[in-house]
Amino acid sequence: MKTVIILVKFSLVALATLLLVLLTGGINQVPENRDSKSVDCSIDTSYVKRMLLGMVNFGSDSNFVKVNPSFTNRSMYLEKNTYTAFIEMYKAAIADGVELKIVSGARTFDYQKSIWERKWSRYSQEYSDSEIAVDILKFSAMPGTSRHHWGTDIDINNFNNDYFEQGRGLKEYRWLKENAIRFGFCQVYTNKEETKRTGYEMEKWHWSYLPVALNNTRLYAKLIGYNDLVGFKGCNVAPKLKVIELYVFGVAECDYEPTLLK
Ligand SMILES: [Zn+2]
Repeated sequence: MKTVIILVKFSLVALATLLLVLLTGGINQVPENRDSKSVDCSIDTSYVKRMLLGMVNFGSDSNFVKVNPSFTNRSMYLEKNTYTAFIEMYKAAIADGVELKIVSGARTFDYQKSIWERKWSRYSQEYSDSEIAVDILKFSAMPGTSRHHWGTDIDINNFNNDYFEQGRGLKEYRWLKENAIRFGFCQVYTNKEETKRTGYEMEKWHWSYLPVALNNTRLYAKLIGYNDLVGFKGCNVAPKLKVIELYVFGVAECDYEPTLLK
């Protein structure tokens, strides 16, 4: 009988203790003067991944800014450091009698997908997925692989190489070749025969802001894989065509040193 009473008493004490622990959150509480193990000190890879893939909302993301209409004839955003550098370059060009208008800036995954799939729909079914993709890839990126997602890359004045071969276009291109690097901008899609570059054909209009884009390329290599390149027509051939290795990383290197920047 005595044993039963002791057991009941012990159970009541145990129950009361358990309730107290549960109510106060007792054993889970970390005293304030101790280091918390729950704080993650690494970078927010989920945000970086979404940014690299063009899956952020430029309008509400503080890393992106809306481009003033005086620099473009359409509504667009750029990565904020890229925009600041562009404005400096724009002013220097104007002083030399050259006007640099942005015809394309930051693009979302969905926007790139609309470009890609509009082109895809023009091919007849006698072509294989690989053949169609390789042809579109001459000038257009697969969704998720465009440097335009990063807001660091801008297309200037015209989408035709011919435009930059004479008259006003030639003057603009010569100015860019000579001066853009002083502001951090590089023509990453150069003549493939003259460089060891792979990937897209030459684009004299596409300029990349290296101080940010170089880091994004490193992050892309670390964080993005073919599993991330899904949700559009032809995504199945991305690994076979090595779009990450040959296209995302198929860029020319400019003679760029951070100290050369103004
Ligand atoms: Zn471009």
